[in-house]
Amino acid sequence: MKIALIAHDKKKQDMIELCKNHRSILEKHSLYATGTTGALVMGETKLEITRMKSGPLGGDQQIGSMVANGELDLVIFLRDPLTAQPHEPDISALLRLCDVFEIPLATNISSAEIMLKALETNILFSKN
Ligand code: PGA
Repeated sequence: MKIALIAHDKKKQDMIELCKNHRSILEKHSLYATGTTGALVMGETKLEITRMKSGPLGGDQQIGSMVANGELDLVIFLRDPLTAQPHEPDISALLRLCDVFEIPLATNISSAEIMLKALETNILFSKN
Protein backbone atom coordinates (compact mmCIF):
# COMPACT_ATOMS: atom_id res chain seq x y z
CA MET A 1 0.00 0.00 0.00
CA LYS A 2 1.03 3.57 -0.60
CA ILE A 3 0.23 5.74 2.40
CA ALA A 4 0.44 9.52 2.75
CA LEU A 5 1.10 11.16 6.11
CA ILE A 6 0.34 14.82 6.73
CA ALA A 7 0.00 16.66 10.03
CA HIS A 8 -0.60 20.28 10.83
CA ASP A 9 1.86 21.82 13.27
CA LYS A 10 -0.20 21.25 16.43
CA LYS A 11 -0.81 17.64 15.38
CA LYS A 12 2.74 16.71 14.50
CA GLN A 13 3.48 15.19 17.90
CA ASP A 14 0.32 13.08 17.57
CA MET A 15 1.53 11.90 14.16
CA ILE A 16 4.92 10.95 15.60
CA GLU A 17 3.25 8.97 18.40
CA LEU A 18 0.89 7.29 15.92
CA CYS A 19 3.80 6.25 13.72
CA LYS A 20 5.86 5.03 16.67
CA ASN A 21 2.94 3.00 17.99
CA HIS A 22 2.24 1.45 14.59
CA ARG A 23 5.76 1.28 13.24
CA SER A 24 5.58 -2.46 12.62
CA ILE A 25 2.57 -1.95 10.33
CA LEU A 26 3.83 1.14 8.57
CA GLU A 27 7.26 -0.28 7.76
CA LYS A 28 5.61 -2.82 5.46
CA HIS A 29 4.23 -0.08 3.22
CA SER A 30 5.45 2.74 1.02
CA LEU A 31 5.20 6.00 2.89
CA TYR A 32 4.91 9.53 1.56
CA ALA A 33 4.57 12.76 3.52
CA THR A 34 4.59 16.51 3.31
CA GLY A 35 8.02 17.98 4.01
CA THR A 36 8.07 18.83 7.69
CA THR A 37 5.84 15.97 8.77
CA GLY A 38 8.05 13.55 6.86
CA ALA A 39 11.28 14.91 8.31
CA LEU A 40 9.97 14.72 11.88
CA VAL A 41 8.50 11.23 11.55
CA MET A 42 11.63 9.89 9.84
CA GLY A 43 13.83 11.43 12.51
CA GLU A 44 11.80 9.92 15.34
CA THR A 45 10.97 6.52 13.88
CA LYS A 46 13.66 5.83 11.24
CA LEU A 47 10.84 4.83 8.88
CA GLU A 48 11.66 5.39 5.22
CA ILE A 49 9.48 8.17 3.83
CA THR A 50 9.40 9.94 0.48
CA ARG A 51 9.03 13.63 1.26
CA MET A 52 7.11 16.14 -0.81
CA LYS A 53 7.37 19.89 -0.39
CA SER A 54 6.15 21.39 2.85
CA GLY A 55 2.35 21.70 2.94
CA PRO A 56 2.14 25.48 2.66
CA LEU A 57 4.63 25.38 -0.22
CA GLY A 58 2.65 22.93 -2.35
CA GLY A 59 3.08 19.60 -0.57
CA ASP A 60 -0.65 19.07 -0.13
CA GLN A 61 -1.13 19.68 -3.84
CA GLN A 62 1.59 17.17 -4.64
CA ILE A 63 -0.17 14.58 -2.48
CA GLY A 64 -3.46 15.54 -4.18
CA SER A 65 -1.85 14.97 -7.55
CA MET A 66 -0.79 11.49 -6.44
CA VAL A 67 -4.38 10.77 -5.40
CA ALA A 68 -5.65 11.95 -8.80
CA ASN A 69 -3.09 9.77 -10.57
CA GLY A 70 -4.06 6.66 -8.61
CA GLU A 71 -0.72 6.60 -6.81
CA LEU A 72 -1.98 6.51 -3.22
CA ASP A 73 -4.13 4.00 -1.33
CA LEU A 74 -4.56 5.72 2.02
CA VAL A 75 -4.23 9.23 3.40
CA ILE A 76 -3.73 10.07 7.07
CA PHE A 77 -4.10 13.81 7.45
CA LEU A 78 -4.11 14.95 11.07
CA ARG A 79 -5.74 18.34 10.70
CA ASP A 80 -5.80 21.13 13.24
CA PRO A 81 -9.43 22.26 13.21
CA LEU A 82 -8.76 25.16 15.59
CA THR A 83 -6.11 27.08 13.70
CA ALA A 84 -6.51 28.91 10.38
CA GLN A 85 -4.09 27.62 7.76
CA PRO A 86 -2.65 29.86 5.03
CA HIS A 87 -2.96 27.03 2.51
CA GLU A 88 -6.60 26.19 3.29
CA PRO A 89 -7.52 25.99 -0.44
CA ASP A 90 -4.86 23.31 -0.96
CA ILE A 91 -6.14 21.35 2.03
CA SER A 92 -9.74 21.49 0.78
CA ALA A 93 -8.60 20.39 -2.65
CA LEU A 94 -6.79 17.37 -1.24
CA LEU A 95 -9.77 16.34 0.88
CA ARG A 96 -12.03 16.74 -2.12
CA LEU A 97 -9.82 14.58 -4.34
CA CYS A 98 -9.81 11.82 -1.72
CA ASP A 99 -13.60 11.83 -1.96
CA VAL A 100 -13.60 12.04 -5.76
CA PHE A 101 -11.36 8.99 -6.02
CA GLU A 102 -12.72 7.23 -2.92
CA ILE A 103 -9.38 7.07 -1.19
CA PRO A 104 -9.69 6.25 2.52
CA LEU A 105 -8.90 9.40 4.46
CA ALA A 106 -8.37 9.68 8.22
CA THR A 107 -8.41 13.24 9.51
CA ASN A 108 -7.99 12.59 13.22
CA ILE A 109 -6.11 10.21 15.44
CA SER A 110 -9.10 7.97 16.22
CA SER A 111 -9.94 7.30 12.58
CA ALA A 112 -6.23 6.85 11.80
CA GLU A 113 -5.99 4.19 14.52
CA ILE A 114 -8.95 2.33 13.03
CA MET A 115 -7.47 2.60 9.54
CA LEU A 116 -4.11 1.22 10.64
CA LYS A 117 -5.77 -1.57 12.59
CA ALA A 118 -7.76 -2.49 9.49
CA LEU A 119 -4.55 -2.42 7.46
CA GLU A 120 -2.86 -4.71 9.96
CA THR A 121 -5.65 -7.27 9.79
CA ASN A 122 -5.95 -6.96 6.01
CA ILE A 123 -9.66 -6.24 6.10
CA LEU A 124 -9.41 -2.90 4.40
CA PHE A 125 -8.44 -3.65 0.83
CA SER A 126 -7.83 -6.34 -1.64
CA LYS A 127 -5.69 -4.23 -4.01
CA ASN A 128 -1.97 -3.81 -3.36
P1 PGA B 1 4.23 20.06 6.63
O1 PGA B 1 2.88 20.34 5.87
O2 PGA B 1 4.31 18.61 6.93
O3 PGA B 1 5.31 20.47 5.66
O4 PGA B 1 4.22 20.93 7.85
C1 PGA B 1 1.67 19.94 6.46
C2 PGA B 1 0.58 20.91 6.13
O5 PGA B 1 0.48 21.92 6.80
O6 PGA B 1 -0.15 20.69 5.17
